Amino acid sequence: MTETGKRIVVVGGSVAGLVGALALARSGQRVVILEKDPTPLPATPDEAFDAWERRGAPQVRHSHAFLARMYNLIRDREPELLRRLLALGAEEITFRAQALRYFPDATFEPRDDEAVLLACRRVTLEWALRQHVLATGLVEFRDGVEVTGFVADDGNGTPPRVRGVRMRVRGSDETSLAADLVVDASGRRTRLGDWLVAIGAPLPRVVKQACGIFYSSRFYRLLPGVDRPNPDSVIGADLGYMKCGIFPGDSGTFSVTLAAAPDDDPLREVLNGPGFEAAARALPMVAEWVRPEVSTPISDVQGMASLNDVRRHLVENGEPIALGIVAIGDSLAHANPITGRGCTLAWIAAYALAEAFERHPDDPRALALDLEAAVERECAPWVRAQIAQDRDAVLVNQAVRRGEDPYRFEGADGSVDPAAFARSVLRDGLVPALREDLDVLRAFLRVVHMLDAPEDLLSRPDLAARVLASHARRHERAAVVLGPSRAEMLEILARAA
Ligand SMILES: Cc1cc2nc3c(=O)[nH]c(=O)nc-3n(C[C@H](O)[C@H](O)[C@H](O)COP(=O)(O)OP(=O)(O)OC[C@H]3O[C@@H](n4cnc5c(N)ncnc54)[C@H](O)[C@@H]3O)c2cc1C
Repeated sequence: MTETGKRIVVVGGSVAGLVGALALARSGQRVVILEKDPTPLPATPDEAFDAWERRGAPQVRHSHAFLARMYNLIRDREPELLRRLLALGAEEITFRAQALRYFPDATFEPRDDEAVLLACRRVTLEWALRQHVLATGLVEFRDGVEVTGFVADDGNGTPPRVRGVRMRVRGSDETSLAADLVVDASGRRTRLGDWLVAIGAPLPRVVKQACGIFYSSRFYRLLPGVDRPNPDSVIGADLGYMKCGIFPGDSGTFSVTLAAAPDDDPLREVLNGPGFEAAARALPMVAEWVRPEVSTPISDVQGMASLNDVRRHLVENGEPIALGIVAIGDSLAHANPITGRGCTLAWIAAYALAEAFERHPDDPRALALDLEAAVERECAPWVRAQIAQDRDAVLVNQAVRRGEDPYRFEGADGSVDPAAFARSVLRDGLVPALREDLDVLRAFLRVVHMLDAPEDLLSRPDLAARVLASHARRHERAAVVLGPSRAEMLEILARAA
């Protein structure tokens, strides 16, 4: 560990800002977090859940899953944080427990211990993380401070060098704070582009694709003495016109998310309490969780729109567009929330940044390039994979709304539609194989948990062959009905309205 004691300013004190600051402070840097939201930390996570104003991060009141890649980073780098989370009622949902439900005689491999989901509300995670970071005494946290731009040297034809931030404390004039490095962790609505242009840098290139869904989420608490109906899983289903997910949380809580296309107006009824409950009860997988004998709602229905897959590029043609400024978390890259990868991507980038800074404390160009290489290797493939998946999901949605079957891959003339074939292999080959073949389940969950790369899933020829064999047997199985058809759901929602 080097003791360079550089001054680093982190913009945004949410998950990415906190973990980034902690990782940098652990390697000996002096770190200040500037957070726009002025609300102080509530006394308990439950108080935070009920009343914490987090306007700067409104997604805190939506369903969150925390994947194994992030769980392992917490366990290995900040074991005290894991202890805190577990003491607050967070739970570890292990691959072993999941696998044993379907494979009672399963033999496990050492790497199976890596696949652990952290069941915890997003508010609880941030509350515990902030407490933990403050308790280390290594990071200064200033809230109610909004960053409004950068202080920079004129680049004179070279990339401008950021030397600090401009900031405003509520009701006061703008001031500035000097820094050797500024880390933008101000989330998906970052103003980084404007700030860079204002100091003479080019507008960063942003690769962006609409996720094709809006989110509606509601939290519930299990009644005393009642167990989770399905204790070991995150449960999700895609009906083509609607996605649904159940996310186990801490302290007997869980949340349900229903997601549909933003332009599918009648389905927006799920943004209202009665519509949400009617839809939830009509989905067999969700219904058993929301029965009044099992759980009770503890929140209103929360909606969120404008969801995109985004990758922001601060390095172009092998050169940083500005020096002394990097980005982590949602500001750098984020993808469809339904896959639950945002916080894990933030954790990965935060440690990549701290390691790059340790290697290049005095060379902002080398730091930017080192971080970029790690982000391209570790984060960008997930965004690219999600963009492809979301494009296809939009086509599926449109086909379902036209009354077509997006899984029918054989034409009357014997031709094969490759996109429909790929969908059919996933739905009628991979999904059943998850219940029939432990190796397929293992490979699938390792990708879900970001332990293996997205392309690893079917890259092993033996596994691909087993999934195709499962697909070939599709006519021998009864069709799985995940829920009502879209027409039936529209009737259910119309009645609820
Ligand atoms: C609906 C939804 C569901 C999600 N589900 C999951 C999930 O299941 N699993 C998962 O891992 N991730 C999920 N995510 C993503 C996850 O919430 C984020 O990746 C995570 O919060 C990390 O984001 P962040 O810290 O980069 O930004 P944010 O959490 O958005 O925080 C940005 C912070 O910066 C502050 N800020 C903004 N501008 C300024 C400024 N000018 N000056 C100072 N401070 C500023 C804001 O107040 C805020 O506190 C979901 C996201 C959404 C939208």
